[in-house]
Amino acid sequence: MCKHQAGLTDYFTCNIGVRQGECLSPLLFSLFINDMDACARSDDYDGIDFGTLKLLLLLYADDTVVLADTPESLQIALDNINIYCQNKRITINYDKTKIVIFRNSFNTRVVGWMIGERAIECVNQFKYLGHVLHFNGKHNVSIGALANKGIAAYYAFRKHIIRFPNMPPGLALKFFNSMVVSVISYGCEIWGLREQKKLERIPLKFYKSLLGVKQTTPDCFVYGELGLYPLSVYHRLQVLKYWLKIIKAGPDRHVRKLYDVMLSDSARSNAIVNWATQVRDLLNNLGYGEFWVRQTVDNEHWFIRSIEQRLKDQYAQHWLTFVNVSNKAIYYRDFKVNISYEPYVSCPRFARCLIARLRCSSHDLLVETGRWLRPVLPYLNRFCTKCNLNQIEDEYHFVLICPVYAALRTRYIEPRYRVNPTRNKFILLVRNVSNHAVNLALYLRSAYNLRSRL
Ligand SMILES: [Zn+2]
Repeated sequence: MCKHQAGLTDYFTCNIGVRQGECLSPLLFSLFINDMDACARSDDYDGIDFGTLKLLLLLYADDTVVLADTPESLQIALDNINIYCQNKRITINYDKTKIVIFRNSFNTRVVGWMIGERAIECVNQFKYLGHVLHFNGKHNVSIGALANKGIAAYYAFRKHIIRFPNMPPGLALKFFNSMVVSVISYGCEIWGLREQKKLERIPLKFYKSLLGVKQTTPDCFVYGELGLYPLSVYHRLQVLKYWLKIIKAGPDRHVRKLYDVMLSDSARSNAIVNWATQVRDLLNNLGYGEFWVRQTVDNEHWFIRSIEQRLKDQYAQHWLTFVNVSNKAIYYRDFKVNISYEPYVSCPRFARCLIARLRCSSHDLLVETGRWLRPVLPYLNRFCTKCNLNQIEDEYHFVLICPVYAALRTRYIEPRYRVNPTRNKFILLVRNVSNHAVNLALYLRSAYNLRSRL
């Protein structure tokens, strides 16, 4: 019986195939094609020889990859497989069958490969198991494809999240991780050794909208406020977890054999760069070179925890340098000394956004907007135009000094901060903001309103 727009069809008998979703289906298919590699092999075709490993075919569900190292042997393999398929009455999907010639340069000799009577198209890239394989073996194209997928996943995520404006940020971040970060981290065990700026931008977009700050806000501030780290930290950790898995794998596993091929390649010449040499460099860089030399890790749990901490510490070092030298961090470096989740972020959205904008210099006070004026207004001339104190209109002036907002200040800010104000008192007020977050946010909202009316 089938379901369609007009309802259900009558019962009918079906004598071939299995039911949709039936777990017998992949098992039957695997048994059915079990002898494919033996039939593909012949005197003139023996796959690619890696020394300890010979690869002819890669089979995953109904996806088949035929490997060859010369144009002639590829044609022989295709002929063998064509005969095999005819004998077994397997239909090849010619539209989805392509050839990629892995090479260094763009130009190549394209031979008109055929399967039976059909010519097979030669392409520069092909998507295999969700990953785009480019002819030069580099990951740039697949990262671009992942970034596009990630942006689509982010917009789908936003559609859902927008219906719950009061969702706690911790929960929203969890949803984001499972709906978006999982998409942009697909296969990061292989390509995750380098920072991928295209991918890093996607979570930052969300973090900035969660804090309600401008997209131009420095990334370091956002990581600092949310106690989060760049994706590259997580990706490198995944690479090293995968490395652990490989060195633990038995010597007969394909992945282990290929890893050994990479090791012996790199031993031949220092100029060779492959996945294994990059893992070696990462371990050396983190100060864990001894584990590379030994190629074993006794206490894996400790190893992973301490690598994670080291990766985070390395980023924290970079973060601290940025915060100490950035001219946007004149106050920020006094509010924050480390990357940790700020409790005010859990406040209602209006308070979270107003405070985050103040702390991260993502506001329209003259100290910031002056740098966007043409010609640029020199820092020392960015005076408050709302009062006649001739002081720079910065966060401190706006919150504790400017006489224009005195009445609002009396209403919302505790006397210990507003009476005899000093820069130090301002820093204390903003650093310990979670104790009085809503009141400070109410002050900011009213003061910004007043400012825009003056
Ligand atoms: Zn003023």
